[in-house]
Amino acid sequence: MWDRARQFIPGGVNSPVRAFGKVGGTPLFITSGAGAIVTDSDGRTYIDYLASWGPVILGHAHPRVIEALRRACTAGTSFGAPTEKEVRFAEMIIEAVPSVEKVRLVSSGTEAAMSAIRLARGVTGRDAIVKFDGCYHGHSDCLLVKAGSGGATFDVPDSAGVPADFARHTITLPFNDAGALARTLDRRGRGIACVILEPVCGNIGVIPPAPGFLEAAREACTRHGALLIFDEVITGFRVAYGGAQQRYGVTPDITCLGKVIGGGLPIGAFGGKAEIMDALAPTGKVYQAGTLSGNPLAVTAGMETLTILQERGTYERLEQLGGRLGEGLTAIFERHAIPARCLRVGSMMSCFFTGEEVLDARSAMTTDAERYAKWFHGLLDRGVYVAPSPYEAAFVSLAHTEPIIDRTLEIASDVARDIAP
Ligand SMILES: *Cc1c(COP(=O)(O)O)cnc(C)c1O
Repeated sequence: MWDRARQFIPGGVNSPVRAFGKVGGTPLFITSGAGAIVTDSDGRTYIDYLASWGPVILGHAHPRVIEALRRACTAGTSFGAPTEKEVRFAEMIIEAVPSVEKVRLVSSGTEAAMSAIRLARGVTGRDAIVKFDGCYHGHSDCLLVKAGSGGATFDVPDSAGVPADFARHTITLPFNDAGALARTLDRRGRGIACVILEPVCGNIGVIPPAPGFLEAAREACTRHGALLIFDEVITGFRVAYGGAQQRYGVTPDITCLGKVIGGGLPIGAFGGKAEIMDALAPTGKVYQAGTLSGNPLAVTAGMETLTILQERGTYERLEQLGGRLGEGLTAIFERHAIPARCLRVGSMMSCFFTGEEVLDARSAMTTDAERYAKWFHGLLDRGVYVAPSPYEAAFVSLAHTEPIIDRTLEIASDVARDIAP
């Protein structure tokens, strides 16, 4: 199947990191999932911490989500007209996320971030944007830019096909560096439309915000009239029901959502203050649209997922399970004298194989990628599926029970023996 995949699909995959490029070997073909377990085409089962890269917070094929979807599809899959459901879903998001007074639905996180940037530029009349090295905001042109050395420089694109002319409006800075952000805004503030960041970094591995960093970003943006955008595509409804902005008590101007809010179906959303959001077409001059935006099936899966997440004790449970896994792994690495740091916020975490403190992309990249590849394959061989890259998060879902976590730790302990120095 992998040979055929590579014959008919570029690189055999529909999204690059799925190809196991960072760890070697052949990707699994997943045929089904139930709760915390996925099954591959050879009939082998795995405890799943990939969670489809974040969305699957309830576990796979949650019976209530499936039932809601079953009912929804018999009523038609897409209309391209307003529906009651999308209004009720918008209300649910607005009630949950502190910064959001109005919200627009799109079909992916990429679209959400791309549209949020356009909106910020349209509202401020400014062109430059600030992003942080290692933060991923989807693959639209101006966001596919990484930091060069030396911090606050106008940067070069990450991908062929992105004109340097687009990338030159993107300034990249080290994550968690409040000083560099303040200096950049002091110098160029009047030209900067927005500062976009993941309030908890999830795309260079999990890196929590240093104390005061989000507050400093808020303060600097307010002072210079730049909009603060939280890309909560991973953290929204993941690290708290109201996202990282609720967990850390810092309110952005615009919020991007995705992943969890689609319950495993394709979705994205961006929202903010009403006066900002009303700058979007058709009321305002910033154009944004989508044939399948607000798709009834995606909205149905999202609503049912959020409804379940609203139940009492959900986030305490995710915290407990995440803690059990994170602390268990930390103890295992210590026992085997493996230099490692497990960084965790709630149910998202990463273990970096490094002796350095991990604060930003540079320090994250000190992780021993070779050791990670061995770790990954050791786990996979024994039935635990984590991300096939050292720079990604592991996700715990509500379907992960204590016995499942403990079984994972037993397996991890075996693998740790094999990868110890
Ligand atoms: C996944 C992700 C995106 C992109 O979302 P897609 O649905 O893959 O387009 C954007 N921002 C963050 C923080 C993400 O993790």
